[in-house]
Amino acid sequence: MKWKAAMQGVKRALATARQEVQATHSDGTVKAQKHLFASRSRMLIAGATTLVVFGGCAGAVSMHALHTQSWLQVYRGGQYVGLVPDNADVVSGMQRIADGYNIAFQTVPVRTDEAPTYSWQKVASFPTQAAVIQVNGKPLVYTTSKSSAQTVLQNVKAALAPKVKGATQETSEFADRVSIAEVSVGIEQILQATDATRLLLHPSTTHIAGRAASPVASLLKAQHSISTQSAASPLLTVRSEATVTKSVSVPYHVTYVNDNTLATGDEKVVTHGQPGQAKEQVRETFENGVLKQAKVVSRTTVQQPVTEVVHRGTNSGVASGNWVLPTDGTTITSPFGYRSFGGGEFHPGIDIGVPMGTPIYATNNGTVLSAGWNSGGYGNWVEIDNGNGITTVFGHMSRVVAHSGQTVSKGEVIGYSGESGHATGPHLHYEVRVNGTPVDPMKYT
Ligand SMILES: [Zn+2]
Repeated sequence: MKWKAAMQGVKRALATARQEVQATHSDGTVKAQKHLFASRSRMLIAGATTLVVFGGCAGAVSMHALHTQSWLQVYRGGQYVGLVPDNADVVSGMQRIADGYNIAFQTVPVRTDEAPTYSWQKVASFPTQAAVIQVNGKPLVYTTSKSSAQTVLQNVKAALAPKVKGATQETSEFADRVSIAEVSVGIEQILQATDATRLLLHPSTTHIAGRAASPVASLLKAQHSISTQSAASPLLTVRSEATVTKSVSVPYHVTYVNDNTLATGDEKVVTHGQPGQAKEQVRETFENGVLKQAKVVSRTTVQQPVTEVVHRGTNSGVASGNWVLPTDGTTITSPFGYRSFGGGEFHPGIDIGVPMGTPIYATNNGTVLSAGWNSGGYGNWVEIDNGNGITTVFGHMSRVVAHSGQTVSKGEVIGYSGESGHATGPHLHYEVRVNGTPVDPMKYT
């Protein structure tokens, strides 16, 4: 058998041996096996002696016929370990491991038959007490002792936990069931705590120094089948929870209010909105330091937001609904129509007696056609187009505040009373015209 082929056989067998050990949940079984090997070896030695003493007898011949295979008893530091096949490749493989780990071992040739299930491969790998870190019962990495394994897990957990500033509460747990068990395993499988930590954190980039024939590659291959993560990801998943307090801005609402004093399409911010402030307790969930979920668990308002109030113009410049009085005075000093005195001239509006400077209002929605001085006798006047052929006229004012082209709304101040133009005292002359013809303003109140 060629060396390469032989070692492949050994490797395959080692894998089987590993699995057997992995299936062992306490070291009791391992010890029991050792004990079995020991008793067996004593039996073999006894058998050999019997052969020498009773060389000629028939019974001895039949026993000899059974014990046809060549084996080597392996002793490590004077202690019996087990049997391996008497094969140069197996021995040189063992020698290579022994050289790498400064192991002294001796072999004693014997002839015996072993059950086909006998796992000599485990013996050839120099079984050594170790601790295995398991995920959901499956082995992940072997290290020297239970305390070493605990250190590895602590370091991995710390490395994969998030660094959350100002967290009031923080926990980190492995996402899977992680356990530590004591096992006997081939010495090449056992890593120092720092190497084991690095392997779990950075599986794809880990090269274990000083182990030319280190089984990390095959270990990784074996782990790959049990891990759904990519080789670049850590082999363990740490789930962390942190509770942090955050100051957050609370957005303000906007309320719209219809406003007839504004032209349709116009908007005016009456009250500017201001964001409020709240303190939130947020529970953050991380996987290997990466934020996966943030949930607000409580919220305290520090400052209420100020609602923004926006007025929306609804005034299209067209009269609607009831008409209002053009001023606060109610004394009609001269009605609409033909006057009964002074020659019976036609009065196209009404005169309302009010003190100087009394506010004059637009009597309905409209657009200012003219505002200012009227040389035809109205003095300071305002003429408004109220839509649908209706116009309104306000005369003799002391002051005009409306301007031409302005959209005015019902009740809006357009000027103040006076006695400008042809007037004999402070009063308002008010007209309503339909398609240019004056009508009785009293019908529009
Ligand atoms: Zn008049």
